[in-house]
Amino acid sequence: MIASDPAIPAFDKQDGQSDEARVEAAMRSFVSEFGVTTALHLESCVRCGLCAEACHFYVTTGDAKYTPVYKLEPFRRAYFREASPFAPLVRALGLVKKPGIVDLEQWQELIYDSCTMCGRCTLICPMGIDIAELVKEARHGMFKAGLLPDRLALMDRTARQWGSTATPGEDLPDILAEAGRSYGVDIPCDLDSADILVTAASAELSEHTKALADAAKILNRIGVKWTMHQGGFDASNIGFNNGDMELQERLTRALIDTAVRIGAKTVILPECGHAYGAARWEAAKWYGQALPVRIIHMTEFLDELIASGRIRVNRIGETATFHDPCQIVRRGGLEAAARRVLAALGFELIELKDHGVTGYCCGGGGGVVSNQRATTLRHKVFEMKQQQIEATGAKRFVTSCGQCRITFEMGARHAHWDKPTESLLELVADNLAG
Ligand code: SF4
Ligand code: SF4
Repeated sequence: MIASDPAIPAFDKQDGQSDEARVEAAMRSFVSEFGVTTALHLESCVRCGLCAEACHFYVTTGDAKYTPVYKLEPFRRAYFREASPFAPLVRALGLVKKPGIVDLEQWQELIYDSCTMCGRCTLICPMGIDIAELVKEARHGMFKAGLLPDRLALMDRTARQWGSTATPGEDLPDILAEAGRSYGVDIPCDLDSADILVTAASAELSEHTKALADAAKILNRIGVKWTMHQGGFDASNIGFNNGDMELQERLTRALIDTAVRIGAKTVILPECGHAYGAARWEAAKWYGQALPVRIIHMTEFLDELIASGRIRVNRIGETATFHDPCQIVRRGGLEAAARRVLAALGFELIELKDHGVTGYCCGGGGGVVSNQRATTLRHKVFEMKQQQIEATGAKRFVTSCGQCRITFEMGARHAHWDKPTESLLELVADNLAG
């Protein structure tokens, strides 16, 4: 069993709300989430405990508090008191205690530090309870209550001001020009009209700028009119992770509206898992009509280009193993695309013991990678992933999400492990044929 560092408080509070106001804000938000589906999920748990073995945080620590269904406890109590069929009776007889400020404070670690919203428990649950979705809904209430990790709150404020956690839009032309100079490629910016709008992940706008050049190299090769744009450029949606629905909608809308304004029919999302969840799947919920543009992940795009013969790649001819990003594969359904691209690159794929839709999370999704309080937990998950990767004996290790890649890089530094985590996009760009 491990415990969080006792020197670091297990919860943070933002803004100056009273404790009573925080509880009321959270409860109001929880109640607004209690539709038929949520009710069904909260009513149907049979307490079998199977979800525990699904969760990387439970598996790697053995600590019962990380059992997925336990992470829903205050949310479940709010439901039974406020919205269940017998709610008046439950309240009158005091059968379920109303969550208080201490419950919410203690809960913060369970839904922000030790849940990546990866959905592996959802897959395993015999009752089909979507715990990952319920955690996401619970985060909405915690955000309203000003009860999220300070690091995520800071990123939230930055994204509200800049439209990105990495840079204000006005700096985008300089960042692209610099990346273009460094890697010898033209990266168009702010064109008035284009067929394709290309977006980035936050890390690509700071430490991994080669990814911008890699995407440009491929798009320039196929001869389409494309651009990046200050109006909507960072697709890694911090609102999705924090529970800030207003920001989530604003960030995704900026991508779609910018694409419509310049006449683009396609928006390409970067190698980022939660960008895919927010823009590809969640956007359709609140857009109010069919999305006016096609939104695809970079991996889908590469797969289509190779399958149609618009690009050809050199065969590398080595063994590789692949980490399936949860939001792209288990939650997003893109299991085969990356494998086809790896096959085109001539890799002999040796699968991890747990792979595809049942693969374990990297341990850093859902904002956990940015939350320094969760460092010890992340390292525990990394140890498990490292063992699985080494057991394959594969020479190369590849993934298709920049956040997973950063999580693995941080874990590898800590463990003094010298195997690099490679990007699928980078492999394609570096091995373009002809
Ligand atoms: S969604 Fe993933 S991290 Fe969260 S409780 Fe389920 S298995 Fe664990
Ligand atoms: S696996 Fe499903 S039914 Fe079983 S305890 Fe977990 S949430 Fe409840």
